[in-house]
This record gives sequence, structure tokens and C-alpha cells, in this order.
Amino acid sequence: MKKIAIVGAGIAGLTAACLLKRRGYDIRVFEQGTNVGGVMRSVREGEYLAEFGPNTILESSPEVSEFFNSLGLENRKVYPENCAKIRYIVCRGKLVALPMSPPAFLKSNLFPPRAKFRLLCEPLIPSRKSRKEETISQFVKRRLGKEILDYAINPFVAGTYAGRPDKLSIEHAFPKLHNLEKEYGSVIRGQIQMKKSGRKPPKIISFPNGLEEFPQAMYKEINPQNVYLNAKVENINFDKSGKVEIETVDQKYQASKIIYAGTAYGLRNIKINKEPLDFPILDKVYYPPVTVLCLGFKRSDIKHSLNGFGFLVPEKEQAFVLGTLFSSSLFNNRAPKDHVLLTVFIGGARQPQHALQTKREVVSSTIYDLNRYLGVTGQPTYTHFTKWEKSIPQYEIGYGDCKKAFAHIEQKYHDLRLIGNYREGVSIIDTIRYAQKVVASI
Ligand SMILES: Cc1cc2nc3c(=O)[nH]c(=O)nc-3n(C[C@H](O)[C@H](O)[C@H](O)COP(=O)(O)OP(=O)(O)OC[C@H]3O[C@@H](n4cnc5c(N)ncnc54)[C@H](O)[C@@H]3O)c2cc1C
Repeated sequence: MKKIAIVGAGIAGLTAACLLKRRGYDIRVFEQGTNVGGVMRSVREGEYLAEFGPNTILESSPEVSEFFNSLGLENRKVYPENCAKIRYIVCRGKLVALPMSPPAFLKSNLFPPRAKFRLLCEPLIPSRKSRKEETISQFVKRRLGKEILDYAINPFVAGTYAGRPDKLSIEHAFPKLHNLEKEYGSVIRGQIQMKKSGRKPPKIISFPNGLEEFPQAMYKEINPQNVYLNAKVENINFDKSGKVEIETVDQKYQASKIIYAGTAYGLRNIKINKEPLDFPILDKVYYPPVTVLCLGFKRSDIKHSLNGFGFLVPEKEQAFVLGTLFSSSLFNNRAPKDHVLLTVFIGGARQPQHALQTKREVVSSTIYDLNRYLGVTGQPTYTHFTKWEKSIPQYEIGYGDCKKAFAHIEQKYHDLRLIGNYREGVSIIDTIRYAQKVVASI
């Protein structure tokens, strides 16, 4: 039976391991940490349920839905309450609902009349001929106008990438948006066409005990015996007979292939045939720090109805936090009776220094923001603090060269494949889909 070694037990590594095992390969997973799931972790403490990293999956791919079902998760999925359709943006210090339809957009006071007029003119703007890479800011300002950038796209980029639109590449970070202009000549025209195609909008999901149910289901199927925890891979050696040997501090393992499912920057810490990989460009892939703060409050200590998904803060509003999910409004059983759970995101590429502050400083500045936006008065009844010193890879301008470097590495070492959120999209769905694609090609 062919042996395959997998480095990293995040969702990319676990997906690959699970699918390869189903195809009859003898797999071993090496994880440097003490648990599986990577950034996907959940904990129930009393009646609160805290997520350490991601909170929801946008189930937008039938192949991934089938994969969830095959893991026995079909009946475990939970969907957000109806109120989740309301999403707030902070505008001049107040929460304003983001308009979700054209009539709501025309009525909304989130954007001034000139911004609405500018947006409606978008189909008349000729598409760009130059092939020079654009940032998200440049693309959005050119096509949709500055106000849409400041009060819709800027907070959205903070909510998805913890990123900055003036740094990220539209082509690599939001390829679908980029392609609308290329294919239809206009973002609005493209969206109308896509709506006409009758595709159902993807569903947002979680699980009763949080997202960690997903990696745990894979861990069970892989069999914990095949997963080594506290096992940091430091060396990979390829010999001429086509064997690969991987080395951790205290063990060696021989396989015929290796799948690296760690991080882009981590690749340079592994020695291949005794040498560090000669691709210094990988050191430039920026993973900004993000702190995730889950706070419980008595319901009576918050004035806002919390009727919605949560709120995002545009950079112009100069807040401490990037955004907040109304976690107990979204899903049942996330907080005790008469209490609520909020999940707050802090730092990112916009304000990395905020994420690196002490717990006490972060909690205090966060409560200041929650007081002004939601009317929070009391002290938290529950706190869960997670600091990710390196969170999400930023697909910045020039990311195409990093992608070329990944392809070169795979060409140079035929038996090494690279998967993970640094390849073809940072979302959970994109990460799973890329792992599925790579496994199918083996
Ligand atoms: C705070 C936060 C919130 C997010 N929210 C969402 C969300 O709501 N929805 C969404 O779709 N996406 C979200 N994301 C993005 C998504 O969660 C991640 O992109 C995805 O989970 C990454 O999976 P991965 O397997 O590629 O990487 P990781 O989860 O980083 O896993 C990589 C694993 O490899 C291990 N490893 C690395 N090097 C070695 C080595 N040398 N030896 C052994 N092990 C090694 C690491 O310890 C780690 O466990 C969020 C991300 C963060 C950080």
C-alpha cells in the first residue's frame, strides 16, 4: 500500500488525509500543535460556546456539501436564524443596516445620493484595457466609486481577510469580482446575469458544538493512531529511488509522497535535502495578527436589539475593533438564558498593533467600542481570548509571483504537493476544494 505523509492537521491536511485514506493509501499526519483543526477550534465553557477562529462556513460548493455528508455531518448542520440577513455597518458612529437589494440601496442612508448615482453609472464605465495588477481599492474606486469602497468594501475586506483593500490584489483576493469586469464589461451587468442563471445563494452553516465538529469528524475517520500531534516536521529528504523521508525532532518516516498543508511562511523553515527552500519570496507573504474575543453579557446590559448577523467597522470610523458577530443571535445554544454572546475581531492588517496588546487592554478598548455602538453597559459575564500572531495570508499585489513559486517547488520536487489557504483562496470552502482537487490529481 502506498504511503503518503501529510504535514499539518488544519482542515486542508485533514481533508487530504481523509480522502486519500478512502482511496486506500496508508496515510500519516504530522501536526506540530497539540490538537487537530488548525485555526478551526471551538470550546464549550458552561453554557457559552466560543470559537477560536472561524465562525461560519459559506456552503457554496456541492462537492464540499457531499464531503460533509460523507462524514456524517448532514444532520449536524445548523443554519443561522432569519435575522442573520441583517448586517450592520458603522456609519458616523451608528449602526446602519447594509442594504441587501436595489430598492433598499436607493432608500438607504448609508450612502449619499452622489454615491448612489455613481454606482448606477457603473455599467457605462468602459472596462480596463491595461493588464497592470490593481489593488481592490483601485478597482472599486474606478468601477463603483469611493463611497462604496469606504463604507461597503473596506469593512467587507476587514471581515473576510482581516485585510486592507489598498494592499490586496483584486485579481488574487477576489477573482470572481475581477472576472465580472472581464467577462461582462461591468460588475453590475455581470451580477444581473449571474442572478438570471438561477443559481441558489449559498447557505451559511455551523454545527451545534461549533465548527470544530468538522475537523473532529475527519480526525475520527482518519483514526487518531494515524495522526501524530506535537510532531513538527523539520526536514524532508528525497532520495533518488523515489522515496521521501520526513523528520521531526524525534522520529523519521518514509513515504512515497508528501503533502505539505502548513503555512506559506512555514515552508521556508523546513529543510529540503538539508537546505532551506531557495524561494525568499515566501517570507513576504504577510499573515497579520488577529485577536478573537468572545464576550458574554447579560441581555439586559445591552441596549441594541442584536437583531442581525453583526456589524463591521469601516476604517474611516477609527474604531478599535474590526467587527463583531452577534453569535447568540445567529445560532441557538451559544449563551445561557437571558445572556448573549458577542464575538469580536481585532487587529488584522489594518491595525496589527491592536491585536498584539495584552488581554486586559484589548478587553477594555473593546468594551469602549461596544458601549458606543451597542449601548453595552455592564461588565462581561464570560471572556474567551485567542491571539493569532499570524492569522490569514494576504493575497497582496504581486501574489502571482508567490503562486508561481509554489508551482516551481512542486515541479522541482515531484513527490511534494502544497495545499492550504495560501494557494487558491483563504475561505474554508476554497481551502477544502483545493485539497479535494489535489487529491483527485494524485
Ligand atoms: C480568526 C480567523 C477567522 C476566520 N474566519 C473564517 C470564517 O468565518 N469563514 C471562513 O470560511 N474562513 C475563515 N477563516 C479562514 C479559514 O479558517 C482558514 O483559511 C482555514 O481554516 C485554513 O486552513 P489550513 O488547513 O490551510 O491552515 P491552518 O488552519 O493554519 O492549519 C495548518 C496546520 O499546519 C500545522 N503546521 C504548520 N507547519 C507545520 C510543520 N512544519 N509540521 C507540522 N505541522 C505544521 C499548523 O500547526 C496548523 O495546525 C478565518 C481565519 C482566522 C484566522
